Amino acid sequence: MTNFVFDPAPRPALPVAGSDLLFPARRVYCIGRNYAAHAIEMGHDPDREAPFFFQKNPDNLNASGRFAYPSQSRDVHFEAELAVCLKSGGTGLDLDAAMGAVFGYAVALDMTRRDLQGAQKKAGRPWEIGKAVEGSAPIGPIHRIEETGVLERGAITLDLNGDRQQSGDLDQMIWKVPEIIAYLSEYFELAAGDVILTGTPAGVGAVARGDVMDVAIDGLGGIRVTVD
Ligand code: MN
Repeated sequence: MTNFVFDPAPRPALPVAGSDLLFPARRVYCIGRNYAAHAIEMGHDPDREAPFFFQKNPDNLNASGRFAYPSQSRDVHFEAELAVCLKSGGTGLDLDAAMGAVFGYAVALDMTRRDLQGAQKKAGRPWEIGKAVEGSAPIGPIHRIEETGVLERGAITLDLNGDRQQSGDLDQMIWKVPEIIAYLSEYFELAAGDVILTGTPAGVGAVARGDVMDVAIDGLGGIRVTVD
């Protein structure tokens, strides 16, 4: 018996590759415009902007392989991203401590109601209705860093119904993974279970119901996500 007024929701749990272990997710941080070519395609100058972040909700993480086309949008976009999953955290981390906090990596998507995000941007308002969408962070199994090594380069691709739409390399990130973690730790107290989406390369585009997205990152394999 507890004194909760109703049963608390279970913490979102992500599979760990090659095991029956689960990674209990805590927070989801996302960096914007972290690949120069994508920043340009969104109409920004990649050289002049400090990193910026938004958050999704932990229960937006979605390991089901399916993504339900969300309400209130006619322009839902895919963004293929490397997810970095933390086993520890803290504040004021230096670059070594930042890498020491990494549990592993996963292939992920930052599904976005682009029309709503665009309207919010234009109005100078927060992005939640564009970004913190139900099921909007499809993610594959987490591969432990002990098995993958540090991922600093390697292809990141997205195929939509078999046609290549996004093709980038992790080495094109403007802010590298340890820099992202260290920077975040200056503003937030990071902790075990935090998941960081590290931005998307160029080539983002719209999906429709029935579409199949195949996202792959060298060293992590791929995930397939169907739009319902
Ligand atoms: Mn993104």
